[in-house]
Amino acid sequence: MAVLVTGGAGYIGSHMAWALLDAGEEVVVLDRLSTGFRWAVPPAARFYLGDVGNMDLLAQVFAENRIDAVMHFAGSIVVPQSVAHPLEYYDNNTSKTRLLAEATIAAGIKHFVFSSTAAVYGDQPDDTPVLESAPLQPKNPYGQSKLMAEIMLRDAASAHDFRFVALRYFNVAGADLQGRTGLSTVGATHLIKIAVEAALAQRSGVDIFGTDYPTPDGTGIRDYIHVSDLVEAHLRALSYLRRGGEALIANCGYGRGYSVLEVLQTVMRVSGESFDVRYGPRRPGDAASVVANATLARRLLDWTPRHDDLELIVQTALAWERHLMERKIGDLRELQQRLATAAF
Ligand code: UDP
Repeated sequence: MAVLVTGGAGYIGSHMAWALLDAGEEVVVLDRLSTGFRWAVPPAARFYLGDVGNMDLLAQVFAENRIDAVMHFAGSIVVPQSVAHPLEYYDNNTSKTRLLAEATIAAGIKHFVFSSTAAVYGDQPDDTPVLESAPLQPKNPYGQSKLMAEIMLRDAASAHDFRFVALRYFNVAGADLQGRTGLSTVGATHLIKIAVEAALAQRSGVDIFGTDYPTPDGTGIRDYIHVSDLVEAHLRALSYLRRGGEALIANCGYGRGYSVLEVLQTVMRVSGESFDVRYGPRRPGDAASVVANATLARRLLDWTPRHDDLELIVQTALAWERHLMERKIGDLRELQQRLATAAF
């Protein structure tokens, strides 16, 4: 049987595709390449170019492959973009998840793993690690769009022979330890990506969004989790569903947070480079502190994170960024050579 990975040309999806292949699974990737790259898909995976909301294409993918589980990574993830373009987020993250769930159920596929987010929690009354049972009060359309998808999956699981695990990701960062893939998105906005770009002189510096949060140093606190630990949680979720596990929503994080300043200091220390840091206003939609209590995933999915180490996260992110720079230089050389040999 094969696993369908939507968004498998993207950051987390490509790590997932590699991890599934490493585990001996057959992998089918569906991606429209809006932010992902064809080269990020492992060569051993079968690739379909297209949108997860295209019902004809989904029917074709399900007819042409023996798929027993869908892992749904395709989606939009930038909080400020979701504030500016809410309807796009509700379309991409909510409506298309509904279509994918419908097609999955119609094809008789019983297992679904969904990429959800800690953004469903918004600001919590205290700063202790957040449990799945905490009040759900997203501060932005991104979090709302994912929460609505969770609700639809829960109701579908009650009505049909269909079970899902929704993993609420905290701040995913770092890259594959074997250097096979990483965060390659052009114009990515995530803090560790921005900071490693600055350390490698790919940008002029880093803007800190808000210095007046109710946190010890005034900057936002997040629980940064290595992408390889996150995909491991998905592998565990897959075996849990195949064993007959009930519908489950579980946090994925380490249970400790770092402030923006701590992250920037770590990037400077690990890279040995300093860069400009500019103190700016808060970014719309941001919560002050978001840290996971992931006891449920550890207990029910038997998940044990192995890379709970901010320095390792930063090292792998730096290594991948250097790889991307070399890739760009290689592409440029190839272009120059083609231009030099072209007849005008
Ligand atoms: N952040 C920042 N400068 C940046 C990008 C992010 O100060 O250039 C802060 C942001 O306000 C938040 C934290 O870093 O407190 C993590 O933001 P990110 O966009 O990486 O992830 P999010 O938590 O929004 O999913």
